[in-house]
Amino acid sequence: MRLSRYFLPTLKEDPKEAQIVSHRLMLRAGMIQQASAGIYSWLPLGHRVLKKIEQIVREEQDKAGAIEILMPTIQSADLWRQSNRYDDYGKEMLRIEDRHGREMLYGPTNEELVTDIFRTHVKSYKDLPLNLYHIQWKFRDEVRPRFGVMRGREFLMKDAYSFDMDYEGAKIAYNRMFVAYLKTYARMGLQAIPLRADTGPIGGDLSHEFIILADTGESEVFYHKDILGLKTPEDKDYSPDELQGIVDEWTSYYAAADEMHDADNCPISGDELVSRRGIEVGHIFHFGQKYSAPFEANVTGPDGKDVTVSMGSYGIGVSRLVGGIIEACHDENGIIWPEAVAPFKVGLINLKTGDEACDQACEDFYGKLQSAGVEVLYDDRNERAGGKFANMDLIGLPWQVTIGPRGLKSGVVEFKNRATGEKTELSPEDALQRLVG
Ligand code: ATP
Ligand code: MG
Repeated sequence: MRLSRYFLPTLKEDPKEAQIVSHRLMLRAGMIQQASAGIYSWLPLGHRVLKKIEQIVREEQDKAGAIEILMPTIQSADLWRQSNRYDDYGKEMLRIEDRHGREMLYGPTNEELVTDIFRTHVKSYKDLPLNLYHIQWKFRDEVRPRFGVMRGREFLMKDAYSFDMDYEGAKIAYNRMFVAYLKTYARMGLQAIPLRADTGPIGGDLSHEFIILADTGESEVFYHKDILGLKTPEDKDYSPDELQGIVDEWTSYYAAADEMHDADNCPISGDELVSRRGIEVGHIFHFGQKYSAPFEANVTGPDGKDVTVSMGSYGIGVSRLVGGIIEACHDENGIIWPEAVAPFKVGLINLKTGDEACDQACEDFYGKLQSAGVEVLYDDRNERAGGKFANMDLIGLPWQVTIGPRGLKSGVVEFKNRATGEKTELSPEDALQRLVG
């Protein structure tokens, strides 16, 4: 992409409305624009990152055996009356009336709708286990939308729903998602910590929130320092026993959010216990027959008797992750994208647009990267070099290649690693090889 033809409305000044660094940097890097409180348009750069995160989430869900569907954003109130949640949900639910006076709502989550799909079509134990997911916009009329996309009113969520014959089956589905989540966040360059979460009236221990550490996180978390050293699960099909082993290993270390943490009864103390702030980027929850019972989502078992299925739901905050990653990965000059979610892999800077040799060397480099399938943003604008450098640092592409008249004379380009700041002079061929390889 040529910057001269792109739409990248960056800001030089810090926007006043932004209280935290990710919000500030997303506005300054031209990634989003507020449409109304807690509701955002995604501009090209932000949209690319959002899609990358979405795709990583999708691939890991698919690998874990979940099947993608797409349910609507607008739902009928009737379904929510069947689960008794229409009134319970309160003011967070955006309620809408259509022209016939029917009550509708903008979905804050999809348990009702997916259970309705399930009960319509699935009648036999032979069709289980089943896990259906979608990646869809949600609306929750949060009391205090803030921090940009981190706590929006409209936000993109991946939500998966598992259906099993019994608790044992549901637990395998749960463990499979637990492991998929660890892999998902690791691919984005994040280490997420699973925290035991409150299961409310349902009880049991199958509820975890996944948090990433950042000073601006909304909750205080307490954890064993060694949990950060645990290995990410491999990319393979684990047996149910192996899945349980991984979950046990992770959950054997203490980790709890402030509302679950009890300082007097904490099993660890001293320098083993670390306390930091964290951002919730996912939540998995086993809720048994909470929805399948009122919806009569039953299947016939091998013995011919009807069984009410056991369910779980598994959410990932896709749009929140865009902000969350920036909170975890930035410096005083701007964003530092982990390569897997970067909007472009390479930023190419022409130090002297209009200079024949520079233009030609840049065009050549740009063309070669493009034909090798490397995503590159080429700053071909006729601007000051200082402004171009600042802009590239701000938008945080992992690699920067600068081509200028002086370097060209000695046959080199400057190759910079955005994360470490390390700069090397390389021949254009060597620089290409590093980026293509
Ligand atoms: P929170 O405690 O942060 O309000 P929640 O418990 O209401 O979250 P879930 O219903 O578990 O959230 O939703 C799954 C995921 O969706 C969360 O882990 C979070 O990453 C994301 N999410 C929830 N609410 C918002 C929001 N208002 N804006 C952006 N992402 C959100
Ligand atoms: Mg939660």
